This record gives sequence, C-alpha cells and structure tokens, in this order.
Amino acid sequence: MNAQQHNGQGTKSRSKRYVYSFGGGKADGHAGLNWLLGGKGANLAEMARLGLPVPPGMTITTEVCTYYYARQHSYPPELDKQVRNGLTRIEKIMGRRFGDPENPLLLSVRSGARVSMPGMMDTVLNLGLNDTTVQGLIKQSGNPRFAYDCYRRFIQMYGDVVLGLKPESKTERDPFETLIEDKKAARDITLDTELTADDLRELVAEFKALIQDRLHLTFPQDPQEQLWGAIGAVFGSWNNPRAVTYRKIENIPEEWGTAVTVQAMVFGNLGEDCATGVAFTRDLSTGEKVLNGDFLVNAQGEDVVAGIRTPLPITLAASRQRAAREGRSEEERKTLYPSLEERMPECFATLQEIAQTLEAHYKDAQDIEFTIQKGQLWMLQTRAGKRTAAAALKIAVDMVHEGLIDERTAVLRVAPAQLDQLLHPTLDPAAAKERLARGLPASPGAVSGAVVFSADDAEAAARTGRKVILVRIETSPEDIHGMHAAQGILTARGGASSHAALVSRGMLITLDGSTGEVFRGQVPTRDPNPDTPEFKTFMLWADHFRRLRVRANADTPHDAKVAREFGAEGIGLCRTEHMFFEGDRIDAVREMILAEDTAGRKRALDKLMPMQKGDFVGILRTMAGLPVTIRLLDPPLHEFLPHTEEEIVDLAAKLGVPAERLRAKRNALHEVNPMLGHRGCRLGITFPEIYEAQARAIMEAACELAREGVEIIPEIMVPLVGYKRELEILRERIVRVCTEVANVQRVTVPYTVGTMIEVPRATVVADTIAAAADFFSFGTNDLTQMTLGLSRDDAGKFLPDYLNQGIFPQDPFVSLDQSGVGLLVELAVRKGRAARSDLKIGICGEHGGDPASVQFCHQAGGKRASTTLAAATA
Ligand code: ADP
Ligand code: MG
Ligand code: MG
Repeated sequence: MNAQQHNGQGTKSRSKRYVYSFGGGKADGHAGLNWLLGGKGANLAEMARLGLPVPPGMTITTEVCTYYYARQHSYPPELDKQVRNGLTRIEKIMGRRFGDPENPLLLSVRSGARVSMPGMMDTVLNLGLNDTTVQGLIKQSGNPRFAYDCYRRFIQMYGDVVLGLKPESKTERDPFETLIEDKKAARDITLDTELTADDLRELVAEFKALIQDRLHLTFPQDPQEQLWGAIGAVFGSWNNPRAVTYRKIENIPEEWGTAVTVQAMVFGNLGEDCATGVAFTRDLSTGEKVLNGDFLVNAQGEDVVAGIRTPLPITLAASRQRAAREGRSEEERKTLYPSLEERMPECFATLQEIAQTLEAHYKDAQDIEFTIQKGQLWMLQTRAGKRTAAAALKIAVDMVHEGLIDERTAVLRVAPAQLDQLLHPTLDPAAAKERLARGLPASPGAVSGAVVFSADDAEAAARTGRKVILVRIETSPEDIHGMHAAQGILTARGGASSHAALVSRGMLITLDGSTGEVFRGQVPTRDPNPDTPEFKTFMLWADHFRRLRVRANADTPHDAKVAREFGAEGIGLCRTEHMFFEGDRIDAVREMILAEDTAGRKRALDKLMPMQKGDFVGILRTMAGLPVTIRLLDPPLHEFLPHTEEEIVDLAAKLGVPAERLRAKRNALHEVNPMLGHRGCRLGITFPEIYEAQARAIMEAACELAREGVEIIPEIMVPLVGYKRELEILRERIVRVCTEVANVQRVTVPYTVGTMIEVPRATVVADTIAAAADFFSFGTNDLTQMTLGLSRDDAGKFLPDYLNQGIFPQDPFVSLDQSGVGLLVELAVRKGRAARSDLKIGICGEHGGDPASVQFCHQAGGKRASTTLAAATA
C-alpha cells in the first residue's frame, strides 16, 4: 500500500489528507487504516464509529512522519491548516477553546505506530495550560487543586518529552519527582493525593524554575507552540534509542513511522468519582473468559502503571480472590481494595457492556484503557491484548466454540513461536536472574547444569546422573557423545549458537535457548504442558489446513520414538555418520580410514556394518509404516580422525600402528576447504565399498523386518550430488547391492533412491538429476552456504554487522534467504517436477523448523518437510 493509492480519488487541485478526525459518533478513519493512522488512532476512529464514548480528536498520519524524516524535520505545507480545522472540530464538540483564558480546552498528544510498541514512545497530557489558562481551568472545574495538579503534570511531561530534561547522572532520580518528594517531606505527608492546591501551585513554580535553571529556557506559554512542540517530539520519539532497539528486536521496519493523535483531555483526577484504568476482556495469562484489570481513583494517565499507588482490582471476584490470598476479612477487603464493581457499579456495567461490544466487533480479546470523569466512562484505547502462549491457544479455541471466529482464523491466531513455547520448558518469568552473557538463540527451551569443557567430562557426569552444560569453542562430530549427554550446549563459535566467554570451572549455569541468554546458577523452569484438550483440538484443526507433511530428523531409535510420539510422519533425515561415534565403533571407522587398500577398508567395514545394521533395524522398526530417509556417509573423513598429538599416540597404540603413519594419514586427508572437499557422494564415487556396505546394511535390516511382517519404507539418500552422472553411477551400485541382498534373503522390500539438493548446480540442472532420483530433499544448510559463498561456521564473526546494516534481513542459516536461495529452490521444484511428475520433494535443512521458511515451502509446493527436534537442548 502506498500514499498515492489512498489519495486515489483526489484530484490534483485537492490537497492531500494528512489529518483524520474522530469523535461525536463519527470518524474519517477506521480500524483498517492502522498502517496510516497507527494502531491507536485507527482503533479510536473505529470505536467512535461504533458509537462508543471516545473523547474527540484527530490523528496526523504516518506519512507525515515519513515526510518529517525525509525533509529535515519539516512538515507538509498543508498540515498546518488541516490541524487547525481538526482542532476547531474538537473545540465545537467539547464546547471549549484551545488557549481560551476562561474555558480552555486541554489536549493529549499521543504516539501510535502500526503495531503497538508499549511504552516505547511518548505521550504528553494536559497540553494547553499556562499561567492564564490554569485560572480558566479553575473556573471551569471549580477545583483549584485539580487545575494545579494538571498543570504540574503537564510541565513535568512536557519538560521530559519535549524539552528533554532528564536526570543528569545514572544515580539521579527524575528531578521533577525529587521536587515532589521534597514537598511531601516538608509537609510531612506520604501520598501525592495529600498535596494541597497550594502545594501544587508551588510545585508548578519550582518545575518552571528547574527548567530555567537546567535548560536555560522559559517554559513555553503559547498553546500553539506547545502543540507543535509536542507533535515534533512524538515524531522525534520514533527514533529514540528505546524505540530503535524495540523495532530491531520485534522486526518492525523503520519506514513505518508513527502517527500522532491529538485528543481532547478527559479527567480522571477531578475527585473521588473519577478514575483511570486498564482492562482486559479475558485473562491474558490463562485465557479464561473473565473481564479483569486495574484502576485508580482520582488519578490520571500513567499513574496506574507507574507503581506510585497500588491499583485496585476492577471486579469484585478479583478483589475477593486477593483477600482470600492475603487472609483478609471482608471488612478489611472493602477498605483496602474495593473493586470498581462496588465503587462505581454503573461505570462497571458500562465497561462490561463495552468490553463485550469490542470483543464481538474485533473478534479478539482486547486490552482497553479507560478514564472515568465524574461518573462518565470514556474509552481511550483498545487493541488486541498481548497474551501468553497458553492463553493464545485457549482464546483461539474458545472463540471458535463461541461462534466468534472460524477454525482457520483460530489457527492463524496462535504464533508458531507460541506453540513452540508450549512444547519446551520455559524460565519462570518471576524468578530472579543474573545474566552472564547473551548469544544467538539456537533452539527453544531452557536448561540448567554444571559447566563442563569436554565431551568426555559431559558423558562421565551424565553417567553419575549429574546435569551438565557442555561449553566449547565449537563442537565437532567427535563431541557427539558429550552433546547427547549434556542438557545443553554453549559454544563461542558457529552460526546459531550462544556466544559467550565462560571461564570459571565448577560453575552452574542456565541457558535460555529461546533467547540465547546465559544466567548464573539454576533459574527455575516451568514444564511444558501441551497435553491439554485445547492443544489437541487446535492441532487437529491445523492438520486439517496444512499441505506440508512433517517428518523429524532422527539418528537413533530413541529419537525416532520421541519423534513418532510427537506425531512425526516419518524420518526426513537420518544421518548415518552419527552412528559412527557410538561406543567403540569409532575405532572400526578409523581402521577403515587408515586402510591402505580396498581389501583393508572392506575388512574394517565388515566390523562396522553389523552394528550399523542393528541401528537401522531399530529405527525402521520404530517407524513401522512410516518412511525413513537414510542419508549415506556425508562428512569428510578427516573429521573422524583424532586431532591432538595425545589422541594420535593413544590411537596408534590401540591399533598397533606407528604414530607416524597416523600423522601422515591425517596430513594427507587435510583439506583447505573441507566443506567443498572430499565429502558426500564424492566419497561414494572414490570408495565404492563404503556406500555399498551402507546400502547392504540398510537392505539387510529391511529384509529382516519384512520377514517379521513389519511394514518398512526405507528411502536411501545420496548427499551432495551436482551432476546427473554422479547419481547414475551411485544409484546403479546401490540398486545392484539391494537386489543382491533381496535375492539372497528371498524377500522383496520396496525402497527408493533419491538425492539431496544442496549444491547450487544441482538446482539448475534439477531436471536431468530428477531422471535418476525418486525424491529430492533440499539440504538448505549447505545450499545456503554454497549459494552465498558463506561458511556457516565462520559467519558468526561478521554476521552481526551484516544484520545491523540491513544487508541480511535475517540470519540466512536461521530463515531461508527466500529472494536468493529460495529462487533456486523454486527452480529445482519446477524443473524436477517437469521431468518427473511423481517426484517427492522435501526439505531437510534446519530451515524446516523456521516458520517463515515453512511458509515459503508451502508456497513452493513441497509435499513434506523434516524438521529438527530439540537441536541444542540435547
Ligand atoms: P501509551 O502508548 O504509552 O499507552 P497513551 O497515548 O495510551 O500512551 O497514553 C497513556 C495514558 O495517558 C493513557 O492510558 C491514558 O490514561 C492517558 N491519556 C491519553 N490520552 C488521554 C486523554 N485524551 N484523556 C485522558 N487521559 C489520556
Ligand atoms: Mg496506551
Ligand atoms: Mg549437507
């Protein structure tokens, strides 16, 4: 959407609309214009249209914000007149004039972005007061205390937000609050409400003197100057450091800008029949359908959240609950925290009614801000309430049952990250925490354990039942046993891995895998509880709408079992090399690598393959009736050899070969670019016996199970193919071995042979490769690495710069680079299907677990995806 589009029917001679009025039962805008009016402005307009009591106002569009930043903080020439017209309209409805010495209209100037950024930008209340109009406000209200309270609040907010008077040091408190505290101390009182009109009048003078003293300027008395000062400050606050950081975390584009809403003030601080508060149409932590919230009598604006006075509960039920918790009598309850329901029953009834109207209208749980002036309820804001994962799920399911939304809408209401939260332990938000470091989040969930620095230590600790966290510079396949044994893994290098320097041994730490944070000690966690009726219902609906099928990545029968229990529809990636590290198999693997000839390699493989066959039997049996994609050996062989001199000497002794030979072999296998080296199907091409042995192990396992009557669906996958010929050669050998085994065993088992698409060339010639493949599985980790020419293991060093400077919109190893790598994927899907219409296509990269990438796959027309289960929290 753009500005032109909105200005569509306007002729050249008519000026562009920058200001949208609302109030008095009408509005120029509506909820659908939140991109232009900000969420707050759009919803105020919508509430006015619904006939709800909204103080009149106008919203200056986000386009003015864009203009303001594009042209050295200036405004479109038409704006001044449009704001004047808007103001006149407000004055008419309110029957007061802005700056009028007898009967002044006061305004609030409020910020509002497209999506809510709570507390990130600034608001100014009671604007329009000066030494003259404050007298008018006294006449209007008959209440000098109230008028001076408004005036001191205005100077305080204007001084802070517009004039920029902040504490001078980190230790200094808000200097305005200090003056208030001093005044209360001098009067020997504790509550703001105990300050008299005279006290407040003195504070006004002291505030003005403070501004003069610190900023060397006189507090502006001209209401127009005040108004434009506040408008400029709200636009300016779009780029304050708080807002910039928040946008970065929440992925909110900088270009969106903020709107400014200028609105007539209503007063919650006019006496005991006045109040201000917030309400939620449902309980946003549990999802329960009960109106709830807080309010304060005789208060204004942010007093409720500022924590100066303890707010009171809105409903009688909540008040009673609190009394029960605190062991108070009914008498005590009534005096200590009476509810809005009791104190102002009529306003409460209206609020309840409005809450229902809003829910029925927006069809979602709302977060409402309101003010009560002399018994009259005013609505100041409504928005979809931010909710916990559990509440999101319950509200979505309940609203379907209430007939408010349909199942499809319900499924879209719960964010993927929220569902993820439901499946993993989370840190108790209320617990005290001391953060040591923050890295990149690697997987959802939270774990605690003692720090260990080697995989062996991790394994040893696990045997004694101790919980540990494996801390490494980086992990190698050799650490796999330690990674399995550890609760969590913290690495200094690598893409999606926590980045932290930790030195103290014997330390206990907690990892939050969802945020990448590292905390000292053991932070209490909450267990996930996905086993609720809502969760089951919700997932059933999701199953109904999805087109992709989901498989898991699993390398062991245990992981396969867990995956199956979570509803995986097969294994999408079973990495055979992980099995090579179990127990003392690594010795046989090393023997194979060190063998001088084919015969020697075969001898070693003969030791290894019965063990691997056992694994395949286990996994295939666990996944009975479901497909299992088994990838043949992929990593470069040197990864299996020892690295340190000590380990080399050890191994030499074990194998009875001179250490010198081991060293020579290690040097011979050394590669400058191992990720682009002798790996994947290239190993299969050079050492036919390796892939043949693996194919044999798979087929023997399959035959054994088939004879038992277990239904098995093995899919043999060849990695790193770039040429049709590579796959043809390997496919032929695999088929030959499988046929041999089946003939000997006298059973037939169906199986398929396919390939990973992870070399960019393979995507471009996918049609030729498809001729030799029964299926494609996109290995998007390598495909990203090779397409971007970017090593995943080294990118960590400069990735932050690329993200900060907006070159990468996101870490391409976390979320698929749709505009680059994505095009290759689409090309390969198209070419592959053109060559073979029954080609099965999936993705087995880590991207399979990323919501944006899943959406991409859905659109690219994939039929299945496999995703990693609990990658880092082993
Ligand atoms: P935020 O985006 O930080 O919530 P708001 O613009 O909603 O900021 O303003 C904060 C509070 O100021 C509101 O919750 C309300 O209590 C008070 N406020 C804003 N506008 C008005 C108004 N026109 N009359 C009375 N109070 C107002
Ligand atoms: Mg608000
Ligand atoms: Mg790969």
